[in-house]
Amino acid sequence: MGKFPVADKALTNVLICKKCKARNPKSAKICRKCMYPNLRVKKARKKDAKGGK
Ligand SMILES: [Zn+2]
Repeated sequence: MGKFPVADKALTNVLICKKCKARNPKSAKICRKCMYPNLRVKKARKKDAKGGK
């Protein structure tokens, strides 16, 4: 959890395209950018809420 629980929730509430890594709404079935049907849930990290790589 980062400083902002709301932001954390929003971050994990998206689907990431496995192909182009675009963010899609949780309700998406296909990527909005490349139409790729393989989306994964964005994983919530335990500690580093700041991200980085
Ligand atoms: Zn895509």
